[in-house]
Amino acid sequence: MSASSEDQFKNIVSHCKEYGFIFQSSEIYDGLSAAYDYGPYGVELKNNIKDYWWQAMVRMHDNIVGIDAAIFMHPKTWKASGHVDAFNDPLIDNKDSNKRYRADVMIEEYIEKIEAKISKEVDKAVKRFGDDFDEAMYRLTNERVVANQIKIDDINKRLATCMTDGDMAGLKTLIEDLEIADPVSGSRNWTEVRQFNLMFSTQLGNIAGEEGKLYLRPETAQGIFVNFLNVQKTTRQKVPFGIAQIGKAFRNEIVARQFIFRMREFEQMEMQFFVRPGTEMEFYKYWKEERMKWHLALGTPAEKLKFKDHDNLAHYANAAVDIQFDFPFGFRELEGIHSRTDYDLKSHQELSGKKLQYFDPELNENYVPFVVETSIGCDRMFLALMSHALVEETVPDADGKDSTRTVLKLPPSLAPIKCAVLPLVKNKEDLTDKARAVLHQLKAHFPCQYDEKDAIGRRYRRQDAIGTPFCVTVDFQTLEDETVTIRERDTLEQVRVGIDQVTAIVLEKTTMANLFA
Ligand code: ATP
Repeated sequence: MSASSEDQFKNIVSHCKEYGFIFQSSEIYDGLSAAYDYGPYGVELKNNIKDYWWQAMVRMHDNIVGIDAAIFMHPKTWKASGHVDAFNDPLIDNKDSNKRYRADVMIEEYIEKIEAKISKEVDKAVKRFGDDFDEAMYRLTNERVVANQIKIDDINKRLATCMTDGDMAGLKTLIEDLEIADPVSGSRNWTEVRQFNLMFSTQLGNIAGEEGKLYLRPETAQGIFVNFLNVQKTTRQKVPFGIAQIGKAFRNEIVARQFIFRMREFEQMEMQFFVRPGTEMEFYKYWKEERMKWHLALGTPAEKLKFKDHDNLAHYANAAVDIQFDFPFGFRELEGIHSRTDYDLKSHQELSGKKLQYFDPELNENYVPFVVETSIGCDRMFLALMSHALVEETVPDADGKDSTRTVLKLPPSLAPIKCAVLPLVKNKEDLTDKARAVLHQLKAHFPCQYDEKDAIGRRYRRQDAIGTPFCVTVDFQTLEDETVTIRERDTLEQVRVGIDQVTAIVLEKTTMANLFA
């Protein structure tokens, strides 16, 4: 991470804490790593993210319905899904620092360093050659760039082979060949690489031993698969149709860092779309495009999002792509779109002995549908929004002088508080009474906040920092003519309007419907 990105990241973390978005879990006991609590503004923003997703998936599609399945599932579920045998990450310890790492991630980070070298080389050339610069040609012909690219391709190929074959010794050899050192101790004194299962387990109260062993679900998808026929029959959906779900998932991540990017308890928003076998690529393409549109509708600049095809496919997939977001620490997975074949339904059918088939009236035949899934982490989405929205900018203050403000430019439809009501001064009862009356009128429509403490400029800044799109100020003129000023967060424009117009103005700008326009 460059120094400025590191600062930006630190700013996000401290802003989230200072303004009541996110706290470290059990902070008074020095915290629990990779677990976080959402504060008063955080929970509103997170709920809005979930709402936006739910509305886009369930309400806007006639052929998608929702469920809310239990976190605990029959332990055989995880045998069938392959999680007991294959939901592993390759783990390596450094013997000198006693630090633990994910072997594949260390290799990926090594590749990123070479990529950064190439980018530096290209940037220099852009400066040198100006408008005439042909980047594609340069990448193909510059000796150093070509050599580095060959190196990257070779490492990627070896990594993919080791991961697909579960070849842990091969990963160790690769780490040794690349002379990767522990970033903490600088030492290359590594243990062997071994598989580490990411599922948390717990024990049922009434059954002792292995029999009573339960897992906390590592993904929400399996609750959908096992309910496939229940849902299809009760809603009379015809293939193709989807089932959506939002809920907690748990993974015992080896290295959990980067704030809410990688947590051990997190929330997923997943949709499994059941299709006729052989049509899955058509829907895979459709959902890739739909999901990208969902992100772009929030006003996220296109250059901050990109597709990245998976180099090695999970055991259940025949195609998979990530939507990556440009986090302060670089482009990373935000959402996955996977063509999961009929793997899960077939496995559950085999292990349970219950048919999970659909009778297709058009083809007049039974089959196990294929599945295309979209899976996004709610917390990662939260972090993506924060990384993009938190800005410092110079604006004129009340005296017309330049001042800096920290503002959270969240899409208004997702902002935790839509409107703040501020009496111009706090020690005039008729003003504060009036402001409270205005608040009372607005709060039935959207989340509002009343604030009378400190000078008006400071109160505006406080609202900017939590992303409130509108501030309504009640002043002496209000008492005479029932008008207020309404200030817009991004433009700083202030207009005087009738109190009876405020609800409509705020609703028009903050309704979720804007995102579907
Ligand atoms: P990664 O490669 O980053 O570990 P993954 O490929 O294992 O992610 P999926 O199994 O595809 O992730 O899960 C779907 C989504 O769930 C991810 O795109 C991500 O947004 C979210 N997610 C996965 N693991 C975590 C985690 N530990 N913390 C927060 N969100 C997560």
